[in-house]
Amino acid sequence: MHLAVAEADPAPLEAAREILRRTFGHAEFRGRQAEVISEVLAGRSALAVLPTGGGKSVCYQIPALLRPGLGLVVSPLIALMADQVAALQQSGVAAARLDSNVDPTTKAETWRRIEAGELDLLYVSPEGLMSGWMLERLRRTPLSIIAIDEAHCVSQWGHDFRPEYRMLGRLAELFPTVPRLAVTATADARTREDIRAELHLAGAAEFVASFARPELILSAERKRGGKEKRVVELVTARPRRSGVVYAGSREGTERLAESLRAAGVPALAYHAGLERSARDARLEQFLEADAAVMVATIAFGMGVDKPDVRFVIHADPPASIEAYWQEIGRAGRDGDPAEGITLYGAADMAWALRRIAERDVDEQVKQVQVRKVRQLYALLDGVGCRAAAVRRYFGEDGVEPCGQCDLCQGKVETTDATEAAQKALSAAHRLGGRVGRGRLVDHLLGKTKDVTEHEASLSTFGIGGELTAAEWRDLAEQLLFEGLLREDPNDGRPLVGVGDAEAVRAVFRGERRIAMRRRIDAAAPAGRTRRRKGETAAALPIHDRSLFEALRTWRASVAKAQHVPPYVIFQDRTLAEIAAARPGTRAALVRLNGVGESKLARYGEAVLEVVRGFEG
Ligand code: ADP
Ligand code: ZN
Repeated sequence: MHLAVAEADPAPLEAAREILRRTFGHAEFRGRQAEVISEVLAGRSALAVLPTGGGKSVCYQIPALLRPGLGLVVSPLIALMADQVAALQQSGVAAARLDSNVDPTTKAETWRRIEAGELDLLYVSPEGLMSGWMLERLRRTPLSIIAIDEAHCVSQWGHDFRPEYRMLGRLAELFPTVPRLAVTATADARTREDIRAELHLAGAAEFVASFARPELILSAERKRGGKEKRVVELVTARPRRSGVVYAGSREGTERLAESLRAAGVPALAYHAGLERSARDARLEQFLEADAAVMVATIAFGMGVDKPDVRFVIHADPPASIEAYWQEIGRAGRDGDPAEGITLYGAADMAWALRRIAERDVDEQVKQVQVRKVRQLYALLDGVGCRAAAVRRYFGEDGVEPCGQCDLCQGKVETTDATEAAQKALSAAHRLGGRVGRGRLVDHLLGKTKDVTEHEASLSTFGIGGELTAAEWRDLAEQLLFEGLLREDPNDGRPLVGVGDAEAVRAVFRGERRIAMRRRIDAAAPAGRTRRRKGETAAALPIHDRSLFEALRTWRASVAKAQHVPPYVIFQDRTLAEIAAARPGTRAALVRLNGVGESKLARYGEAVLEVVRGFEG
């Protein structure tokens, strides 16, 4: 690894900035974009880890436009490719994709353009690319860059392993002179190592941006029965907002979508069990809607780039912190405040651990996965800033609390419950792992129905008068998260027993203190007024707001005519800038963020027309 910044030659970077302005309409590079681009422009390979919404795409798009030859982008999802290509074409970039969805005529035309050197960017799937003939044809084509998007898919330490990504390692020897850029939004140190090894990027410079997403307001709450009811409550408290609700099962998504529709929310279900055409139609409906709620399994998401998603709710918890950050990260991509809300329970953790135990993989891989699950639940059920916990997990140092998550906002209080925990643990011990959580609580309170003489004679029977039943249930849940109690699934009628013996002894000796979380009663969205204020459109004064709405109406008709999602034409943020600035000339318009030359040429007159319509 070497220091890329010091070596950067300013001249190519100036040219890159020019393209950023003229083609993409952005005034300045963000985060580590300039460094990554300089590195690639110097002809060297690199690994870039930038958060979702951090602007990974221009890191390879700009070098592809500046360097001679065709820029190749390997991307795992066809939906993602289609959107990116549509957005690039809007910006006047010669881009195309080759995937199994493209019809033969278009394919032939694309190859003609490739061979004539007319194309700047080509998007391909990993399996498509590595199929013999495509590689053969591309080997005769000069390439400017090979970008490998979602590069964490190559790692089995990551959370999204795709075996076909492993084949991409061969690109290093097939195209030894072409700089390769691996980009991803989530990769802990180990996954980064794996990316380097598998993709043969040993000497490549590494650019890891901060994982901070200050626009995201995080919260999590334990499930308390009635999960669906809770989700409906959370969603209906956020009316006219686009959101994603993740659920663990296909049936779960259908059921939840149904309940939401019954509550008047425009909700759609999405999962891998649906017909392809139904999935595509629902995706399109979601992308094009001003406000829609997608209730989905994790089949939905990677590469879904709807900028104005205002909340992501996990009705069931994600699989790891990486998955958490990536899934929550689909909210607020336009940089405006958005919420990530997670519902979780000890039963979810037990289920995740059991699935790992049943998996047919190396013991070593299992250990890593178990650790990832434990880290996730430690974060969800923890008492310190959630955003800071995520960033530390990804290896950031000196992280400050975010000040806006539920834990920073102090909605969780803790009290010392070491003594109560000792009682619960010894009750579980005396009951010998033969009862469920409900009966354990009854036992502590001395309220067990049809209690046997033996049970009533135990020293722990009825010793728990200091807590209510609900508090005991909370404490039991917490002890499960901490591994002090353990639950045997027992075919759906789980039984509680004592967990890790060493840790339990430490509690009995008083060496390990138990800080019990008090019940959180999170109802309405947190910090609502502040969040509203931050939103692009709501920040506008009322008279600008009606222009903004008029611009949106205009955009909707243009998008519809072209069969592209509206944000491909202009993002909300850009429309809000136009509404506030009311440009009277093309020169004034092109100065606004998100208006590049191609968009100016295409839509400048129409936009100015809408603005003029508002003056009179
Ligand atoms: P991701 O890293 O998630 O792939 P994208 O490349 O899709 O992110 O970019 C996210 C958003 O940020 C897009 O709307 C893009 O137009 C915008 N963007 C990218 N670079 C800049 C920049 N330098 N200044 C302003 N906006 C930018
Ligand atoms: Zn916080």
